[in-house]
Amino acid sequence: MSIAVVSTGGTIASTDDSGGDATPDLSGADLVAATPGLDDVALRVEEFSTMPSPHFTVDRMLDLAVLVRDLDADDGVEGVVVTQGTDVLEETAYFLDLCYDGETPVVVTGAMRNPSLASPDGPANLLAAVRTALDADARGRGVLVAFAGRVLPAREATKVHSQMVDTFRCPEFGPLGVVEEGSVTWRRRAEHPDPTFDPDPDRLTNDVAAVYVTADAPASHLSAHADATVVCLAATGAGHLTGELVDALEDLRAADVPVIVTTRCPEGRLARSTYGFRGSERTLRRLGCLYADLNLQKTRIRAIVAHAADRLDDAFAAP
Ligand code: ASP
Repeated sequence: MSIAVVSTGGTIASTDDSGGDATPDLSGADLVAATPGLDDVALRVEEFSTMPSPHFTVDRMLDLAVLVRDLDADDGVEGVVVTQGTDVLEETAYFLDLCYDGETPVVVTGAMRNPSLASPDGPANLLAAVRTALDADARGRGVLVAFAGRVLPAREATKVHSQMVDTFRCPEFGPLGVVEEGSVTWRRRAEHPDPTFDPDPDRLTNDVAAVYVTADAPASHLSAHADATVVCLAATGAGHLTGELVDALEDLRAADVPVIVTTRCPEGRLARSTYGFRGSERTLRRLGCLYADLNLQKTRIRAIVAHAADRLDDAFAAP
């Protein structure tokens, strides 16, 4: 039995030998060779890509999900570790989670400091991810993120700092566990398991807009997306829009564009029956918007996956 390490690029695989311009150029085999503490673990490496994570497309995310499923079906694989750049890691991990209901642990990790810098964090993160994937209690928990000693559910993990090494957190509810001395101490289970989707590659599209509502935002911020396949909206507070955005929302809904609303607050969920002013949850309900309880970028990933599986209504709640 072995742990499959799937290498995709990112800072963990970047060097800046050219003098400060780090780019991904290391293979998965290089990452494994540079990580102390793996001698007792049978590893197999899958070289998936060598790209910065902002270059990841949703098509590549689906390819990765298919690879993860294939590895789960392989009796020789005990766990899967995916290494990726941190910028969109939370989106890739959640995409994988939405497409995966296997028992084999799947753990995503990366690094904030590349191997050319003092104190690179990649080796420690890779080691912790492998140890997590080997942990019997990691089985059946869905896709996990292991980073800077924390183990987080893909659904909740989010990058909260642009530069610090302990950048991945779960706002509001905290990590599932922590990795210390190579073993995981679990403290909670991820409640609220998501349905699993089987996206049709031909329906997969990146044409799902993500709009962040800001004070006095004009109608154009929303009407610019009148042709989008789906619009995801991070509303203020418990689910509120500016007056002008309501005009644009009415047009979008009249044109049957699905609109999925979440809150722009890092913690908490949308209200259903507290406010009644124009642009409040009453308006969202009247216009047949759907609700999400995820951050905006994860809401968009869920919309992309659910749309590709032709299950958008089933994937989000009505207000
Ligand atoms: N800064 C990024 C990282 O941490 C670059 C990327 O996402 O590829 O890996």
